[in-house]
Amino acid sequence: MAASANPGGATARIVIENCAIATVDADDTEYASGYVVVAGNTIESIGAGKAPEGLENVVRRVDGTGHLATPGLVNTHHHFYQWITRGLATDHNLFNWLVALYPTWARIDEDMVRAAAQGSLGMMARGGVTTAMDHHYVYPKGSGDLSGAIIGAAREMGVRFTLARGSMDRSEKDGGLPPDFAVETLEGALAATEETVHKHHDASFGAMTQVAVAPCSPFSVSTELMKQGAELARRLGVRLHTHGSETVEEEKFCHELFGLGPTDYFASTGWLGEDVWMAHCVHMNDSDIEAFARTGTGVAHCPSSNARLAAGIARVPDMLAAGVPVGLGVDGTASNESGELHTELRNALLINRLGAHKEAALNARQALRLGTYGGAQVLGRASQIGSLEAGKLADLVLWKIDGIGHSSIADPVTAIVFGAAAPVTLSLVNGEPVVEDGRLLHVDEYAIARTARDEAQRLARIAAGS
Ligand SMILES: [Zn+2]
Repeated sequence: MAASANPGGATARIVIENCAIATVDADDTEYASGYVVVAGNTIESIGAGKAPEGLENVVRRVDGTGHLATPGLVNTHHHFYQWITRGLATDHNLFNWLVALYPTWARIDEDMVRAAAQGSLGMMARGGVTTAMDHHYVYPKGSGDLSGAIIGAAREMGVRFTLARGSMDRSEKDGGLPPDFAVETLEGALAATEETVHKHHDASFGAMTQVAVAPCSPFSVSTELMKQGAELARRLGVRLHTHGSETVEEEKFCHELFGLGPTDYFASTGWLGEDVWMAHCVHMNDSDIEAFARTGTGVAHCPSSNARLAAGIARVPDMLAAGVPVGLGVDGTASNESGELHTELRNALLINRLGAHKEAALNARQALRLGTYGGAQVLGRASQIGSLEAGKLADLVLWKIDGIGHSSIADPVTAIVFGAAAPVTLSLVNGEPVVEDGRLLHVDEYAIARTARDEAQRLARIAAGS
């Protein structure tokens, strides 16, 4: 029963007890056996031992024996539409992969985007994501209400959601990578982005839908769109998101076209600041990292996608040491076919240990922090989500760690980070159950799988005939 299904009208409570808890608060407080009391959409109390006695309006008690409770995972970079173009151009680097896929991506329509969003969201929610985001930047002419379809899918799934309304206006004829028919005009992109913010952005505490301004990348967006996009976001009071410093090719492109490296180019267009977060940031020198730290610019670290496209290893330990906010991202599933965020905790830890800092690069608790509190920071919501603390929103996950995959791993946090992807027994978003025993509660997972397959095949047919 959902917490809000309380005929009496008083605030309904869910009590979770007997589980290990990693709060990911400022002190990394953990309880070997503790409780969480959820009242309405917020966490009322949390602590060691049993829940306080005498609580009223308790609509549900959960025995968390054999589980670890953590904050829900926060995904900070994704492209949902790619769910229906997975498994293509599997042996390409970024630029070649983009050139191979843009002609197909330019054929998407509203039904395809809805099906892809449902698949992307379902996969993440099932794996413990409570806050999702989609950086959507392909808006072909006449393709329908793509933003509305994506937001509708997130609402249906029950997850908290940020739509980064993307755009592209630098096509092949202007020295960019996307084909001419896949881009918008400068004016068209800005007007549509503003309309999306007015229509869908909720600035309140507990908002389920937010919108960010998100031109795609330096090699698909004009300098004017970068500048005016930043001005628009600040005028509307929403956040800014884009891709940055992903590959050596991008670095070369920026030097050739702008006479600047990517970070200096972003600075020159108004794109450094505490209201900005950028995906990847793989190729950053010391002064780039210092600029991000000084301005509070956030990073969405996407280790699997960076490995899949051979982009390199982002300097996450150096960023954290400098004070840069860092979250984790799945990235689009055309470059990370799994589409899961919980495995990114493990991959972030392992891949960063292959870099300069070796075994000291990241530990299990730092990886968990990246996937929770760090994500909340880069989305500008660290006072609302990202840790389990009284007064924050009730977005939490109960991971099953007494099964075959995890029961013999000594420490619960180590179990979910170093071990296999742990099953999700219960996931709450805004105090409402979204996943129970690994099953999505509000949608039919098998119907989503069938529709995604059908729409992927329809897109492939259309692209082949174009
Ligand atoms: Zn991306």
